[in-house]
This record gives sequence, structure tokens and C-alpha cells, in this order.
Amino acid sequence: MANNYYDLLGVAKNASDEEIKKAYRKLAHKHHPDKSGGDEAKFKEINEAYQVLSDKSKRAQYDQFGQTFNNGSGGFGGGQGGFSSGGWDFSGFQSSGSGFDFEFGESGFEDIFSSIFGGQTQKATRKKRGKDIQVDLEITFEEMVNGTTKEINLRKNTVCDVCFGTGGDGDAKEKVCATCGGNGRVQKVGRGFFGSFSQVIECPDCRGTGHVYEKKCSKCKGEGKTMQNVKLEINIPAGIADGQTISISQAGEAGGRGGQSGDLYVNVHVKPHREFTRNGRDILNSVEIPFSVAALGGEVEIETIESRLTLKIPQGTQSGEQFRIKGRGIPDLRSGERGHQIVKVVVRIPKRLSREQKRLLEKLRELGE
Ligand SMILES: [Zn+2]
Ligand SMILES: [Zn+2]
Repeated sequence: MANNYYDLLGVAKNASDEEIKKAYRKLAHKHHPDKSGGDEAKFKEINEAYQVLSDKSKRAQYDQFGQTFNNGSGGFGGGQGGFSSGGWDFSGFQSSGSGFDFEFGESGFEDIFSSIFGGQTQKATRKKRGKDIQVDLEITFEEMVNGTTKEINLRKNTVCDVCFGTGGDGDAKEKVCATCGGNGRVQKVGRGFFGSFSQVIECPDCRGTGHVYEKKCSKCKGEGKTMQNVKLEINIPAGIADGQTISISQAGEAGGRGGQSGDLYVNVHVKPHREFTRNGRDILNSVEIPFSVAALGGEVEIETIESRLTLKIPQGTQSGEQFRIKGRGIPDLRSGERGHQIVKVVVRIPKRLSREQKRLLEKLRELGE
């Protein structure tokens, strides 16, 4: 495996571009294979080093990831055992698919190199954001129309109230994590069918932050977060639609160690109502009226969300005709302006008639109606 690129070129880690160029030219000249006393292997190494260190972004990434290559399996030879200390997740890494799986062979270094540097711009020492939480919440139709406040109970990672999320004990100082050398990443080497392979994974000691406290917070054991039962009041605005989601920024799981909390997503479900349905901002329902009322006109009591109302039925109302009650609908989420209630009238035809009713209807028929 290649040596440290800086050592190869004989420059300091903070060497300027000019210094790197100078050193490279000098060494390339010295080891050029066409020259007597040239060394092709050495020449290749120097070239490799220069290609990385002369490229700003490659150099920056090498500075972040580089050390892990030289560490090899050092300290982690025990394999899985060393990592079993808790449910840390890989989520941040898996987005790149198998990008971090690579084989170690003769030219292993190049493989690792292209795998990691190939378009990866992840910061090694980023702070980890907490997970988002999704919950479902059911409200009644009335609560939907009027708006409501609901209490929900969550068990979630919460910012530690002793260290306020830092993970450090009192005045404990932050120091560079010894396990990963501050990279936040370590290389895990395993044995596979085709030989050993390695993965770059989050450092289990600093959880990818690259820093640890000299003394860990005793309450959260340095995590910066603890599991808590939390009560939250959720304001549900009037007019929300069934299936709509309310997002509450940073009410999700705590990130810990200075990481931002995730968000909370509340999926609102509106229970069906026995009487009313919704159409946009309008509330729909129907009312049955006797056919005599439909023919002669009259009054009928109807339900609205707030109260009962008397609806005037004009003479000659047809079955299926609709009446609009202004401003008794659902408020607009933003403006609050309410839609209408649309009442559909259904004319009831009597199934049984008294003798008298029958006589009168037959009379009506004789009159041609
Ligand atoms: Zn704490
Ligand atoms: Zn670490």
C-alpha cells in the first residue's frame, strides 16, 4: 500500500501548491525511469501522490479520508466485535449504494481511491441530523371544520438536559477522536470469498463527528441525547384536508452532539361523518322532505355543523334540487373564508298510505297530476 503522499513528496502537510509542485518536479526528475538510476515504481508513486495533492478537492478529501488507509485494520482487527457497542446506523453511507464496498488487491489503493473520491463530497466530520418522525392523527369532521389542538405522546431521542446535547461532562474539553484521528470515518476490513475487503464506515467512538470529550456526560453517555417520553401539542388548522401532513421543524429525534434535530410529520386523517361529506370548501348533505311539502312548499329542519336550521322549501321543489346555505362550509386554510353548505333535497314518496291519503291522491290523479 502506498505511503503517505506528503511523505512521498517530502513536503509538510500544510505545504503550498508551489512547494508541492517543486518537490514533485525534483523527485520526478530524479526517479524518471528513462534516466540511469531511475526507479519506475518510485516514479509511479510520486506521480500518484502529485495527482492527488495538486488537485484542490482531491487533496482536501485525501486529508479527510487519507489516514484511514494507512491505519489499515489497525485497532479494528477484531472485526465486528469492536463495533457492537450500540445501535448506530449506516444510513448516511448507504445512499451511495455499494460505492464503499471495494476489494483490496495489488492495485487496491486506486480502487479505494476512485470509490471514495469518485464524486463523493461527504464531509467526514459533519454533525449528524436527528431522524424525522412520522405519526398519524385522526380528527373528527367537526374538528376539521373548526380547527383543534391535539396532544400526542412520543417516545423519542431528546436533547440531553444535562449537557445540552454536547455529550461532554461539565467543562470537559473536546479533543480529536483517537480512534479515527478526527476523520469521523474508519476502515473496516473483513474477509470475503475473494479475499479481504474493506468498508469505510462511521467511527463508532465519535459517531462521525471526529471529536470526543475528555469526559463524557454521565447522563447520556456522551450521546448528547436520551430517550424520553414527550408530550406535544399539535395545532391543527381549520380546513385541513384528509391525508394532509403538518410538518413541525426540528420536533423529530434529537441529532445529539450539536447535530440538528429531525422534523416531525403529522399525517392528519379526518374521520368520515354520518351526515356530512366534503367537496372542496363546501359541506354536502341531503334532507328528505314529504312530497306534499315539495309540491306545496314549506319548511324543513336541517343540520349544519353548528346548529339546526330551518330551510324554506319553495313550492314545486324537485327531488334532487340543491339549496345553498352561505358561509356554513369549510374554512379556507389560509384566508379562513368559509365555503357553503349544499343541501340536496330528496322527495320522499310514501310507501304506505292511509285510506284518506289514498282517496286524496286518486282525486289528484283525476285532476291530471
Ligand atoms: Zn448529556
Ligand atoms: Zn472517531
